[in-house]
Amino acid sequence: MSKKNILIIEDEKPIREMVRFSFFNSDFILDEAEDVNQAREKILAHPPDLILLDWMLPGMNGVDFAKELRSKNTLGIDSEAVKIPIIMLTAKSEEKDKIKGLNAGMDDYVVKPFSTKELIARIHAVLRRSSDAQLDTVKIGHLELNEESQRVTCSGKQVSLGPLEFKLLSYFMHHPERVYSRSQILDRVWGGDVYVEERTVDVHIRRLRKVLAEHKQANLVQTIRGSGYRFSAKE
Ligand code: CA
Repeated sequence: MSKKNILIIEDEKPIREMVRFSFFNSDFILDEAEDVNQAREKILAHPPDLILLDWMLPGMNGVDFAKELRSKNTLGIDSEAVKIPIIMLTAKSEEKDKIKGLNAGMDDYVVKPFSTKELIARIHAVLRRSSDAQLDTVKIGHLELNEESQRVTCSGKQVSLGPLEFKLLSYFMHHPERVYSRSQILDRVWGGDVYVEERTVDVHIRRLRKVLAEHKQANLVQTIRGSGYRFSAKE
């Protein structure tokens, strides 16, 4: 495992030092910012793998900064940076505040005072989760499909699909640039034991195309005369 870059945004120097000290001989390299202005510069220059974000900061607070990070392009950074996992460091342990924090796009939180052992365990867990989520995500052209959340987006906009259209699109996106016959598609998407007529495939392909057309992506699903269908981002 290569070393992960962690950015801590925390105005209290003793906490930054404690975390820095705990990172000696660990899998993490620590970068530090005292406030969100320093943090913005550091994120722009070198997006970290994970952010430790203090709630109470001078100027803009941590929750607002998390919202800023999660909303696209407010930093002028690419959309990858929008997905950097965030662990909130908070002295506020009230349930209401926790939820508020998580809604703002936090991946986890650690209540102060925390042990560095706990912090490191949380960092590992969040990094593991975010790399699993990336494995579950397939991107082709403007489309992005996530198996776990069953969500599809096109250039960041939500694409609403029925369950079968989702399965079809998922199969296609995992197997692009190949031609599949209707019976192969039935077998792989519907499952071999189900008796469905082959024209059912056409019905669902049509529905899928209709939704993709709303996002100007209908040409991704191509009809190959006499053979079947192909999913391709090429013309
Ligand atoms: Ca603080």
